[in-house]
Amino acid sequence: MNYTICPRCGKDTERLIDGLCQECFFESSDLVKVPLVLHTTICSGCGARFSRGRWTNDLNIDEIIVQTVEDELLIHEKADDIDICIEPGQMTPHLYRVRVKVSASLMGEEVSQEVGAEVRITRMACDMCSRVSGGYFESILQIRATKRRLTDDEKKKCMSIVSSVLERMRKRGDRMAFISNSIDDREGIDLYMGSANASRDICRETVAGLGGSFSESPNLFTRKDGKDVYRVTFSLRLPEFMPGDIIEFGGKVVEVKKFGRNVTGTDLMTGSRFISKPDDMQGAELLARREDAVKTVVVATEKDELMLLDPETFETVTIKRPLLFTAEAGDEVPAIRTRNGVVVLPEGTAKKTGK
Ligand SMILES: [Zn+2]
Ligand SMILES: [Zn+2]
Repeated sequence: MNYTICPRCGKDTERLIDGLCQECFFESSDLVKVPLVLHTTICSGCGARFSRGRWTNDLNIDEIIVQTVEDELLIHEKADDIDICIEPGQMTPHLYRVRVKVSASLMGEEVSQEVGAEVRITRMACDMCSRVSGGYFESILQIRATKRRLTDDEKKKCMSIVSSVLERMRKRGDRMAFISNSIDDREGIDLYMGSANASRDICRETVAGLGGSFSESPNLFTRKDGKDVYRVTFSLRLPEFMPGDIIEFGGKVVEVKKFGRNVTGTDLMTGSRFISKPDDMQGAELLARREDAVKTVVVATEKDELMLLDPETFETVTIKRPLLFTAEAGDEVPAIRTRNGVVVLPEGTAKKTGK
């Protein structure tokens, strides 16, 4: 192997970096430089990081430490194939020690260097958390059901839509996508929201998923810097009927599949498909839910008629045979007694039948 002599220290060396041996090179210049002490600001409430004048929630604490170091890292400008490894180690909630290992190729020579730094953390409340704790809101979202109370199950479904919409908006950087107060009572839920946009997105998503409708009404709240400031009340109404409701309407008995802008379901007396609009269904009445159906025995089937046991009196009754009815004598089918007689429910569309 060929050796050359370092012009500065006179030692034999395999190769010169920038005209010097590796030792002499690192005496005058560095592969990596990082300030000994770095500072970062983190929200004590939600863990957001304050950087370049704004708060962001996209990193966890270890990632924030690594990012803080990376932002201040100076690598020798002639280095290629750089490999950086940053290891954060927590000392206290306010202090991290970090090891930085960098290897690279510097003018054809493989070199590596390890340096240490300290990251000091200032904890304070971010813009969002201080607004939440101050009870700030720009809109009120009222979630109700039409002509009835919101069920616990619906409350749960609504709140899961609320959380997923808010999470999605926050990921996009919307710092106003928060709830500063909520009231959950017998009638429904009131949410005090950081922004009207958040309320509107939640309304749209809920109506798409659960049906119903919403309206918004702005109220002048105050004047600020010569501008009108509005607070918007959103009124979100879940539909009167839910999937699986068995309703009576215009002499028909219908099992509701969907009650949105259109109403779809099954006409239980004929077995045919039912389609209508909520506005055309004034006076519809809830008779039962699909889970109220009880299994009853089919006594005999004919081309147009069906004989079965009345689920309450156990007397044999004859009803019109619904379309697509496939059960045979001796089979058990879910049935419900209504003012319009006994109806059988189509199997297979329900999650659960009988008790
Ligand atoms: Zn040297
Ligand atoms: Zn926060």
